[in-house]
Amino acid sequence: MDYNINKDGYYGEFGGAYIPEVLHSNVEKLRTAYLEIMNEPSFKAEFDNLMRDYVGRPSPLYFARRLSDKYGARIYLKREDLNHTGAHKINNTIGQILLARHMGKTRIIAETGAGQHGVASATVCALMGMKCIVYMGETDIARQKLNVRKMEMLGAEVRPVTSGNKTLKDATNEAIRDWCCNPSDTHYIIGSVVGPHPYPDMVARFQSIISEEIKKQLVEHEGRDYPDYLVACVGGGSNAAGTFYHYMNDDRVKLIAAEAAGLGVDTDMTAATIKLGKRGIIHGSHTFVMQTEDGQIVEPYSVSAGLDYPGIGPLHANLASQGRAEVLAVTDDEALAAALELTRLEGIIPALESAHALGVFGQKKFGPDDVVVLTLSGRGDKDMDTYIERYGKMGIL
Ligand SMILES: *Cc1c(COP(=O)(O)O)cnc(C)c1O
Repeated sequence: MDYNINKDGYYGEFGGAYIPEVLHSNVEKLRTAYLEIMNEPSFKAEFDNLMRDYVGRPSPLYFARRLSDKYGARIYLKREDLNHTGAHKINNTIGQILLARHMGKTRIIAETGAGQHGVASATVCALMGMKCIVYMGETDIARQKLNVRKMEMLGAEVRPVTSGNKTLKDATNEAIRDWCCNPSDTHYIIGSVVGPHPYPDMVARFQSIISEEIKKQLVEHEGRDYPDYLVACVGGGSNAAGTFYHYMNDDRVKLIAAEAAGLGVDTDMTAATIKLGKRGIIHGSHTFVMQTEDGQIVEPYSVSAGLDYPGIGPLHANLASQGRAEVLAVTDDEALAAALELTRLEGIIPALESAHALGVFGQKKFGPDDVVVLTLSGRGDKDMDTYIERYGKMGIL
């Protein structure tokens, strides 16, 4: 079984490019160009240089001794939280801005929910001197003031979106609309392994630097280049795709994806798309979608703004359907507890998204010799208000 994308842009039955006619030539150009450009030595050299000197890679693979003692396994944390801008998203935006420049594009658009992908996009546009427009729902703008200010300071224009629930899904629709009107000069930087082919594969390849490094770093730590388990959280699925990438076809390695259960998978306040979603098309891709009986998209809920996407990358839809990846749903409460636990055991305040991956230790038992690598996708600075609200009430903060 090959879990990579096939030549038609599908992972098993999932993926494809379901797009309006006006975007055909744009997506087609991207499809025919992306692999060629990414494999050019000069492109690779520039990407590698920026990864090292600008992002700060390789990110450390840290043996978490006290966390390991607590859960009786050999637990390593892949420290994407230490990257410039505080998460894994910069790996992808650096790759896509270089690709956009290579294709002669001068204008960048992006969508953002919590603002993390917006900041990562605005950052690389400042770096390259490119015009940047970020679509963001009005509800999210009100909730994420600091990220809005960061984007503005970086020189991006944040365009408020007032349709629908005024959140991520609506911002994405608006970005696609913009792209339809400006197909020749504009590149759309999608922030996860979602959207029409070739985006899921392109983003997975840019993020695959995570597993490329894990392979080398595990040799130094454990004398072998593979772990027994890989654990990552999934919103759209890009940090998980990067973590799994070089191990997807290696059946010595078990894959665990943590999705956001919100208040619980038996409530309607949840974002557990793989567990509860039905097959459908969202943002140009055939995958699992949170939807009503008659196909209306259901607004997902999670305490973590980075995990409440109503779809899931087609790569993960396939890994889950084939039984290759185990999918665990982690609730708000479990994630919040795991965040405090990591902070107190290791002195690392994780992003709420990453805390969902950490929540796996409360649900699954590992053996004392199991080597578990968990990707810490981001740092918790942006989530301090949520932590204070939760732990302030309990008298802990
Ligand atoms: C955006 C984000 C995520 C979720 O996105 P994926 O594409 O699923 O990786 C996870 N962690 C952090 C820190 C994020 O900012």
